Amino acid sequence: MPSVCIIAEHYKGKLRKSTLHAISFGKQIADKLQAELCLAVIGHEVGSITSDLKGYGASRILAVDDAGLAEYTAEAWSAAAAEAAEACDAVVVGMSSGTTGKDMMPRVAAKLSAGMASDVIGFDGEFFLRGMWAGNALATVEITTPVRVLTIQPTAFAPAEPAGGDTPIEIVTVMLSDMRSRVVEMRETQSVRPDPTEARVVVSGGRGLNGRENFALIEALADLLGGAAGATRAAVDAGWMPNDLQIGQTGKIVAPELYVAVGLSGSIQHQAGMKNSKIIVAVNKDEEAPIFQIADYGLVADLFKALPELTAALQKEVG
Ligand SMILES: Cc1cc2nc3c(=O)[nH]c(=O)nc-3n(C[C@H](O)[C@H](O)[C@H](O)COP(=O)(O)OP(=O)(O)OC[C@H]3O[C@@H](n4cnc5c(N)ncnc54)[C@H](O)[C@@H]3O)c2cc1C
Repeated sequence: MPSVCIIAEHYKGKLRKSTLHAISFGKQIADKLQAELCLAVIGHEVGSITSDLKGYGASRILAVDDAGLAEYTAEAWSAAAAEAAEACDAVVVGMSSGTTGKDMMPRVAAKLSAGMASDVIGFDGEFFLRGMWAGNALATVEITTPVRVLTIQPTAFAPAEPAGGDTPIEIVTVMLSDMRSRVVEMRETQSVRPDPTEARVVVSGGRGLNGRENFALIEALADLLGGAAGATRAAVDAGWMPNDLQIGQTGKIVAPELYVAVGLSGSIQHQAGMKNSKIIVAVNKDEEAPIFQIADYGLVADLFKALPELTAALQKEVG
């Protein structure tokens, strides 16, 4: 039976939240194409990840488990993904459009001689929908090859809920002997806070913060709410915050329960990365700032006065 194969994104033995969003979309596509849903996990010693996926209603779970896949390289992982796709007779192969998906899925498409669409946000049974120009235009895309490869915009779909069941796990082998790239060293950013794409709350600051030292105000509120810190490109380009915390078109795309935007104008490029957040709170001294057009709660105020007061008041609430 043809299948829709979703490649799981995981890190340090844990499923990335984005995978659950991609599974939701995978189910929708499978229903429309009357195909089965197949989940594939690539890596080494991925037993706990495949177990975590058992309850999500897939017909098949494939594990491509090999020591040569322990460290991510686009070359090896795309070979493994293509192998998994062939093993489950996939007509659609998708992965969430995070750093890994964007890096490896074009290679998967090339290996499968498949057409590809990236950042997909919908499917009507025939055409795929994707956002363009920071979400200001929607493109309807037809992929005419027998196999179709996608990266999936996770924030466009609710996460899949576990539905019980006990999908069997099948092992797929892949030949990795002639790989030409290997990981020599990994330098990780160390952070006590969650990644913005995984966090329930994101507190972001912009140029209005006026310096690295003032991002302590952003971090204090993020810590109080158990959330992640984020930044605009202006703040990242100024060297006030690291690159991996940039939210927006050329940064990370987030959709937390709560997004607090402080001292940032809300450019279309920034909005492209956060406008699907459930509740948006904005603090800006300019009442004309575009961020207020999408904010659920807006405070026209000087952030240097308002933010410490807000943090102190919340501190009292949470004790
Ligand atoms: C191709 C391309 C891709 C891009 N990608 C991204 C992206 O991924 N993410 C991104 O963020 N940007 C991106 N940008 C940049 C984007 O266009 C804006 O330049 C940027 O988002 C502006 O950042 P900002 O809101 O911090 O700064 P500004 O637009 O300068 O806004 C600063 C805000 O702070 C307010 N403010 C100042 N002082 C105070 C105070 N004391 N109290 C309260 N409010 C105050 C001001 O009223 C103002 O609204 C991209 C641009 C291009 C061309």
